[in-house]
Amino acid sequence: MKEIILVKLGEMVLKGLNRKTFEAVLIKNIRRRLSGLGGFDVRTAQSTVYIIPESEDSDLEAAVDKVSKIFGIISFSRACEVEKSMDSILQTAGDYLADTLREVKTFKVESKRSDKTFPFNSPQISAAVGERLLQEFPHLHVDVHHPDITVTVEVRDFGAYIRGGVLPGAGGIPVGTGGRAAILISGGIDSPVAAWCMAKRGVELTAVHFASPPYTSERAEQKVKDLLAQVGEYAGWIRMYTVPFAHVQEAIMENCPEDLFTLIMRRFMMRVAEQIARREECDALITGESLGQVASQTMKAIACTDAVAEMPVFRPLIGMDKAEIVAISRKIGTFDISIEPYEDCCTIFTPKHPRTRPSLALVESAELELDVDGLVKECLEQARWVRIGGNRRA
Ligand code: ATP
Ligand code: MG
Repeated sequence: MKEIILVKLGEMVLKGLNRKTFEAVLIKNIRRRLSGLGGFDVRTAQSTVYIIPESEDSDLEAAVDKVSKIFGIISFSRACEVEKSMDSILQTAGDYLADTLREVKTFKVESKRSDKTFPFNSPQISAAVGERLLQEFPHLHVDVHHPDITVTVEVRDFGAYIRGGVLPGAGGIPVGTGGRAAILISGGIDSPVAAWCMAKRGVELTAVHFASPPYTSERAEQKVKDLLAQVGEYAGWIRMYTVPFAHVQEAIMENCPEDLFTLIMRRFMMRVAEQIARREECDALITGESLGQVASQTMKAIACTDAVAEMPVFRPLIGMDKAEIVAISRKIGTFDISIEPYEDCCTIFTPKHPRTRPSLALVESAELELDVDGLVKECLEQARWVRIGGNRRA
């Protein structure tokens, strides 16, 4: 029995003329994600993507897991490929779906015949398969309105396919169709979720992490790498820049009012990240900020941070509650890594009473005490990158 994966395309089917490009990027992404799993033929026909194992070594279980994390796929199913004859369809349906059919009480059969030379029409196929399943599984009943399972039989140009349930895909649009952006990533809960949200909209990611050795440990940096590897399950491989930041923090501590510390630090992060983003041909920055979550994320504070960035700054979590963000982080597998207890560069110099309604003029005049360009330059000179995740992007 030959099992394959059938993929239904997501929102991109609506994109008119761009559709072909989107489809091509999706196919490329699927091929790349499945490389190393023993060989799969990936092709489209009749607005469905077919993922077909090429050898005994092809790992279908692993492929199913990978496919569930590829953006641009709304749903997919495992299907059994059979010869295009009513006999093979009838012989195989019950065997292939036996495990599921034993566990449910009601079913219906839906058929589609796109190969009009097949000598039975759709209602005839459904009736024959339904009858056969009722014989093989006498506990079953047909329920056309609310069946526990819908068995689908499709007779297409190059084969017939039988499938049971449909699995949810990751949704979104294919990574690589939405431009490139740099995510400012900490070891917290929010920024990995923000990265995932933007990848879901087709954005290819570069990551920038500010680390403060000797105040922060090697392990804290490893935590961020682990987070990105998890995000990369969805986003493809990611280049991560680590920027030593302690000298900037010390300069701010020594020369600026304590209540502006976090805000001025954020502005430095933006400046440095924007330079790296340009180098990486990114057109936007991404942060995990959520309005009102902490003092540096009030509307006034965000305005001060934004003032140093020329690129658009995307904040996909801006209107979300912490509980909503946590729910996503659990779903995508970053939560358990995020709550590991390693110091972040932001937690080591936290002011007791940060200013929540800062004015830009006040912040700018405080920064006059610093050699802003010199500090940024030093950060850029000391930045190092590594590649996180598979051996190719997307
Ligand atoms: P997170 O959970 O993402 O750390 P947070 O709620 O803790 O977010 P802050 O610590 O105020 O918020 O950080 C706000 C945003 O600034 C983060 O979402 C992230 O985009 C960026 N950021 C914070 N710390 C760092 C860091 N060490 N390196 C890179 N970016 C950072
Ligand atoms: Mg944080």
